[in-house]
Amino acid sequence: MRGPRVAVIGAGLSGLGATHHLLRVGCEVTLFEQEGVGKGTSAVATGLVHPCRGMPFADAGMRETKVLLQEAASALGRSPVISGGIVRLAMEGKREQTLLRTILQRADCRPVEGGGCFPGFSGARIGSGLTIDVPLYLQGLFLSSLGSGLRFTNRRVCPLSLSPDFDQVVMATGGDVLRSERTRPLLRNTLSENKGQVLLCASPSPFRLPESVIGKGYVAVTSDPDRFIFGATYEKTFPDRSPCIRKAKEVIFSKVGRFFPGCTLFSVLDCLAGIRVHRRRVRLPLIGRLRKNVWIITAMGSFGLLYHAFTGKTLAIAIKEGREEEIPEALRLCR
Ligand SMILES: Cc1cc2nc3c(=O)[nH]c(=O)nc-3n(C[C@H](O)[C@H](O)[C@H](O)COP(=O)(O)OP(=O)(O)OC[C@H]3O[C@@H](n4cnc5c(N)ncnc54)[C@H](O)[C@@H]3O)c2cc1C
Repeated sequence: MRGPRVAVIGAGLSGLGATHHLLRVGCEVTLFEQEGVGKGTSAVATGLVHPCRGMPFADAGMRETKVLLQEAASALGRSPVISGGIVRLAMEGKREQTLLRTILQRADCRPVEGGGCFPGFSGARIGSGLTIDVPLYLQGLFLSSLGSGLRFTNRRVCPLSLSPDFDQVVMATGGDVLRSERTRPLLRNTLSENKGQVLLCASPSPFRLPESVIGKGYVAVTSDPDRFIFGATYEKTFPDRSPCIRKAKEVIFSKVGRFFPGCTLFSVLDCLAGIRVHRRRVRLPLIGRLRKNVWIITAMGSFGLLYHAFTGKTLAIAIKEGREEEIPEALRLCR
């Protein structure tokens, strides 16, 4: 007997995570994407992921992400992981200190004393943290899903009008849910957006960083050892979605400069901008049923890599079982 026919709209982290798991539970999946695989906000994600922010489902999220990274690596014939381990520096502030103490209680973390690339700072090395080449990872997930029978259509669709042709529809359309006239009224009290920018930089002289470092802002390694990503801005108000290098430099150099004064000597090669969707009151993603056979997976905020695989799996089980109750209450959309 064939499984339910499911349309997934959006080929970012949310859509590809859900697609992978829907195929695994036996659904027939058609993926619709208006631009290209991983061309939405996922295209600008720096690639940092670790489970140490004291958030619910973080360890489960990390476990599921690692499973999908493995799937992507098998499909690509190489790993999309750029480096293992992330250093979290101890910055001033009570919240920062508490966070660091919590991190250091974990078995996968160890203290790092001052020195190295950022002299004078101590902190923690999160052994399970990763820096990922996100575009490559998404290509790998996409290839792996094609190998499992995925159908792909490169066009914009109206998610709510697809329901007659499919048993179930999954909206993984990122910020689009707040722009569409049909979904905005349903979600505007639940979701909000902020603009994020990062700078792709090159060092003026030989500079080696073995792993990404997070302080106030971050310096992330990339697949090119001579290039680094400095991040990031969190702009609650913004005139438009396009990159604004002046604003990005002002905010990012001020943050990163607190632990890495030499950052302003780097040359800025590019400025990337994207819109993060998050929940208004909780820092957790949102999954659930919008209509009888229309589901939504969104609000990954800054944690797309941590949560996409875990939420995708949860959603796939809920769809397969036809039971919204399979979704933990903390993640579920309340109507
Ligand atoms: C500057 C910046 C840095 C970040 N760094 C990190 C990081 O280091 N680690 C991390 O975990 N997260 C990071 N994030 C967050 C991460 O990028 C997001 O959580 C994640 O990309 C959200 O994925 P998504 O699939 O929900 O949305 P998107 O990636 O936006 O995907 C939605 C897709 O749906 C498509 N679409 C929309 N409407 C339609 C339609 N009607 N028909 C067809 N297709 C449609 C869009 O074209 C798009 O491809 C960062 C974000 C920003 C802005």
